[in-house]
Amino acid sequence: MKFILTVALLSLALINTTTAATVHVSPISQSSRNVTELVPPGQLRIVPLGALRVGDQVAIEANATNKVYNDITACFATESEAQAYAARPICRGYVKSKTPLVLRAQAEESGNHYLILDNSYATVIQKSVSARISIRKNLPAEEIEKTRAFFEGVQSQINGTFENSDFNIRVEPCGESNAYSDNRTADITLCTEIIHEVMGQRNIGALLSILFHEYGHSLLNRWGEPGSSEEDMADQFAVAMLLRGGDTGRQLLQGWIQYWSTRDSRAEAIHQLTRGDTHTLSIQRARNIQRDMNYPEEFSRRWNKMLYRHTKRAALEQVIAKPNKSDDVDLAREALRIK
Ligand SMILES: [Zn+2]
Repeated sequence: MKFILTVALLSLALINTTTAATVHVSPISQSSRNVTELVPPGQLRIVPLGALRVGDQVAIEANATNKVYNDITACFATESEAQAYAARPICRGYVKSKTPLVLRAQAEESGNHYLILDNSYATVIQKSVSARISIRKNLPAEEIEKTRAFFEGVQSQINGTFENSDFNIRVEPCGESNAYSDNRTADITLCTEIIHEVMGQRNIGALLSILFHEYGHSLLNRWGEPGSSEEDMADQFAVAMLLRGGDTGRQLLQGWIQYWSTRDSRAEAIHQLTRGDTHTLSIQRARNIQRDMNYPEEFSRRWNKMLYRHTKRAALEQVIAKPNKSDDVDLAREALRIK
């Protein structure tokens, strides 16, 4: 989990503070991704798994989509084993069977590791292999600390700005790429899977937007405002927060739009028709975010009315003294007067 931008740079023009709210980062980080490889007869494919440390665990579920000859050979290799494999096929967790197959392995040395898909014994049939790669890592202390510092930076700005925002953030494996707001405690969980997914694309904008989206659920819930469980309201809260960041905030929002745009809305639509799911389609969420960004003054004014009601006195005083583009000084004065 490497963050290419710190929240200090984001400059949301919010006030920092320290409260009882905590950030808990699990020492275990889990990630998963899907890969598809065409492996011609007589050949092999070497799929990078990234850098692992001793004890990190890998589980691979591989499936060859060929109707009849759906077998493949799969194994797990260190850098030197992968380089030597074509001449000397030695590797770990070797599985040669019909698919679906599951390969489990543990890193015995630190360094880059690879998945080898070997079709070298076939003379005619090309294999189309889709594999789900799940990696479970033990995080070193400095990485836990870096992650904690990043989320504490955001938490401190939110706490300094809004009333009733003293809930916790947890970063932990969930078994799926997701994030949650607990509607009882308002605590936020960010799954390590979703952090890996967006940071694998170097999309810090999506990460911050997802975090602010969850803050939207939690804060509206704490404040007793309507719509706290609605996805569209939580999306709008995130847009309102990031628009405060000026050009940087807009750039980060573009990352979020990109995140939604690359998801498979066609598959989601089919899921909705067959399962009665009522979530807004990803592509529609991307369009809604863009629409709100197209009229930033109007959009911010609408949100400021509600946000200022729950903004701390010191933060309102700062809005009045040093307003930014998305602020409304008259509204802030009025909110301060009736506090
Ligand atoms: Zn949500």
